[in-house]
Amino acid sequence: MLAQALPRPHGEAPPALRGPNHAWLERILLAQRQGRSCLPVRLGLEDAAYAALIQANFPQLAGQYDSAPPQVPERGALRAELLELRRDEWQELRDLLINGRADREPFEEALACIVAAACLGGDHLWRDLGLASREQLRELLEYNFPRLAARNTHNMRWKKFFYRQLCEQDGGYVCRSPSCEHCPTYHDCFGEER
Ligand code: SF4
Repeated sequence: MLAQALPRPHGEAPPALRGPNHAWLERILLAQRQGRSCLPVRLGLEDAAYAALIQANFPQLAGQYDSAPPQVPERGALRAELLELRRDEWQELRDLLINGRADREPFEEALACIVAAACLGGDHLWRDLGLASREQLRELLEYNFPRLAARNTHNMRWKKFFYRQLCEQDGGYVCRSPSCEHCPTYHDCFGEER
């Protein structure tokens, strides 16, 4: 099973994306379909939530996955299975993002699901999302999850920052040192992402 559907009252029209989210989501969608991200099929969203996203915002992209090379949908399906295996972790990341949301538009919740799914990849988060740069990821996070993004005062790499937040919440993801300053893997968490 894929990530949970976002509840929407029966019969209500799917919401349209506003502001820069449309361009970011389009880029994320195309990257996934072209095999340039780590995101699962349907970006990790439940069927209905994904269908609503496409229907309201990208009707021109409905069915475009059909023309992708066969390994792309296969890889997407495998990643959906991997997401299921790490569902608890995905949910904690998603909740962390949702708790810091801007409350500006309904698709913040879908974006939280998508960003959390990309956190399960092995590359830099911006690359695993299919974005152009770390800067673009920063803009997306500051726009949609400003209360969380504002806490990254030391410019940590975003994925590391999220796990550090979970670590501080309940210690579930143990850091290698009580303080970043004396941590032997400091450079994995801070600095450039190339
Ligand atoms: S630098 Fe070390 S202590 Fe700080 S977040 Fe990274 S792993 Fe954790």
